[in-house]
Amino acid sequence: MLIQLASALIRELGVGLAVSEKAFQKMGVFRRMAGLSLLQNLLPFTGYPYEGAIIDCPVCGASNHKQIARFDRRLKRLSTHMCFTCGLFFTNPMPSSAELDRFYAATYRAEYQFAFLRPRKTHQIRKQREADSRSSRISEIIGFNEPVRFLDFGCGSGELVRAMAVRGYEAHGFEPGVDYGSFGQDKLAEDAGGANAIRVGSWRDMDYPANSFDAISCLHVLEHLNDPMAALEKIHDWLADGGVLYLETPNMQNYVLKGFDCFHFAHVLGFSRDNLLFALEKSGFQMLREDRPTSFLLVKKGDPRGAALVYDLAGAVKKNHSEFTAGITLFSYLKRHSRRIKKVAKEEIRASQS
Ligand SMILES: [Zn+2]
Repeated sequence: MLIQLASALIRELGVGLAVSEKAFQKMGVFRRMAGLSLLQNLLPFTGYPYEGAIIDCPVCGASNHKQIARFDRRLKRLSTHMCFTCGLFFTNPMPSSAELDRFYAATYRAEYQFAFLRPRKTHQIRKQREADSRSSRISEIIGFNEPVRFLDFGCGSGELVRAMAVRGYEAHGFEPGVDYGSFGQDKLAEDAGGANAIRVGSWRDMDYPANSFDAISCLHVLEHLNDPMAALEKIHDWLADGGVLYLETPNMQNYVLKGFDCFHFAHVLGFSRDNLLFALEKSGFQMLREDRPTSFLLVKKGDPRGAALVYDLAGAVKKNHSEFTAGITLFSYLKRHSRRIKKVAKEEIRASQS
């Protein structure tokens, strides 16, 4: 492990240019900096290398939010707020778009999946398996009577795009990570060329025309974005009328049961069923089918509209907030934090069942 880490860092720092010529040419100075930011991202008791800005709730816009955690699961300093109107968890200060773009272009995969230059073999096998089952579920729902245009929003190493292309769909995807995106492009060209395409870049830079797709998937992506409503607006615009969005994001109510493990730099947002549904309805989507609490198949319908906030997820958390933050010391932090969140979760579940 140590040898792997050392050699990876050496490569990331630019010593092993011969190995990664293509990637280095593409990313230039960012890639050389990636090794340094990787170190900064892993060192406990320090903050992450970003400045960000204090924001109000990025889903409902409410200003009644408070800090509920000061550290993340790596014991790094990371401030997480909770919105007391819609219950969203979010990193605050929130990284800027440029900071997130830089992180995803060069650091994220190395840091979270220990993957350098290309996805690890185990990752590829797991993703292939997931893509097979997801493509089968998606094609079951959207049918295949005529050429169907499909987009995977944040496609990683492109397994789902390939699986859909192989099934005969016109499949597209984009990915901000340079290494994974290039890998996906090469594999897609090998397996299914033609009208299928993967682009490398941030979602903000994607300029697909309106009504370009009949189906869009957004799988474990929304929680990484600092402006989820703008992203949903783009998806809504790119989807044809009646088009289907298939969306999955981690369910914070599940995560909550795991304690503080849910907080880390990559997930700048933490949704649960109700605030996710609120965000989607407000963006002009209507639920078609719900697989699990935060796994939805949605159909686009009409214009974005104001959805009524009928849930008060944050109520119980608010009650416990003072206990959350009062008197937290380093050593008691994990235990207390985990216990409090569990208590809150239990109350939420009990309330939702009554
Ligand atoms: Zn909110």
